[in-house]
Amino acid sequence: MRAEVIAIGDELTSGQRLDTNSRWISAELALLGIPVVFHTTACDTLAAGVEAFRAAVDRADVVIATGGLGPTADDLTREVLAEMAGAPLELVPEAVIAIESRFARRGMPMPESNRRQAMLPRGSRLIANPTGTAPGIDLECEKANGGTARVFSLPGVPSEMHIMWRESVQPALQAMQPEGGTIRFRCLKCFGAGESAIEEMLPDLIRRGREPAVGITAHEATITLRIAARGVDEAACEAAIAPVEATIRECLGPLVFGTGDDDVEDAAVRSLLAAGQTLASIEIGTAGRVAALFAQAMARLTGRDRTSAVAVGYRGGHVLVPEQTPQGDTHASMLAERARSEFGTAIGLGIGAERPAADGRRAIDITVADADGTRTIEHVMGGGPALTLARAAKTAVDLVRYRLREAESS
Ligand code: ATP
Repeated sequence: MRAEVIAIGDELTSGQRLDTNSRWISAELALLGIPVVFHTTACDTLAAGVEAFRAAVDRADVVIATGGLGPTADDLTREVLAEMAGAPLELVPEAVIAIESRFARRGMPMPESNRRQAMLPRGSRLIANPTGTAPGIDLECEKANGGTARVFSLPGVPSEMHIMWRESVQPALQAMQPEGGTIRFRCLKCFGAGESAIEEMLPDLIRRGREPAVGITAHEATITLRIAARGVDEAACEAAIAPVEATIRECLGPLVFGTGDDDVEDAAVRSLLAAGQTLASIEIGTAGRVAALFAQAMARLTGRDRTSAVAVGYRGGHVLVPEQTPQGDTHASMLAERARSEFGTAIGLGIGAERPAADGRRAIDITVADADGTRTIEHVMGGGPALTLARAAKTAVDLVRYRLREAESS
């Protein structure tokens, strides 16, 4: 069974609002073991809607749509479905009663415009909407080349849609595939090498058609490897994921820093806390990003409303601008030692001012210092204006993670 998700609304196609419904629905479909092959977003015209639904019905077995079921003239999903399926709209008394009673509960008569919402394509079933006026539509549609697809059309309001999914759509989909099934994902997060370098280190894993599938994406120099496994239940998926995860970890070693939503600063702070270590930073070339990453990760991992001070972890930092820094004080190693002594921490992190690199590009030095000595790396700035600082700051954070790993294994 293959699914397509359709989002309808001018506010989506014009970029005014982000389509979060399709994301939510796709994650739910995955839990039911139903792969999503297309996402389509269509504006509020009859022609666009009919075209989108026609294509979806012809290429998928299940179509889940949201939006365009309101009472106003621009809400056309009912008309779209009627036209696409050749099933004229009919007034459904059950729907009129449901809408009227919703208004009655608020002590109001039903406006005439809401009567439109009780018009459903002939042969469709009503999907009850316990928290809003717009009923959903459940309609079996003929494909152009034989067979049928089942269309579930739901309101756009996320909270209404979620309840209708749980109460009606999810049980209907489960009944359509009594053999069950699910799709589970595991995200492995990596830092320290580019997307293509990582792909080369994973022989044949990122091949199309492979089961479990492994996908690769990059965000601000953090690489995510997403393993997707289909199976009869969660345990079967986990069993399929485990050897792939083990292979990836073996091939990439310490480049893998975590799973799920973790970023590199979470991994570094987690290691700091586990080791009972303290850290402070003084940065010039990263303009406060390093302090922000560490402080935010500390808040996430130790709780924002903590009442007693946490004695270990990130203790604070200074952000300096090069013009106000005495000559000689801009060296990363001096900054790292200064951070250690000023904050009284075990580890100091220093990020120097930007300077020309040997190849003419710009670079910064990053030093991590502790009782065992210092380690300095040169980081060449790159990745476009929006990425440069984020990448440099994460590189500095990652140096702390590596230092803690070394200390742990020595
Ligand atoms: P209603 O009965 O409330 O009019 P509807 O089915 O007509 O529902 P819309 O009018 O299209 O839905 O949207 C209602 C609200 O839900 C709007 O605030 C809209 O921005 C939001 N919404 C619609 N579609 C989506 C979507 N795909 N993702 C996130 N929000 C959405």
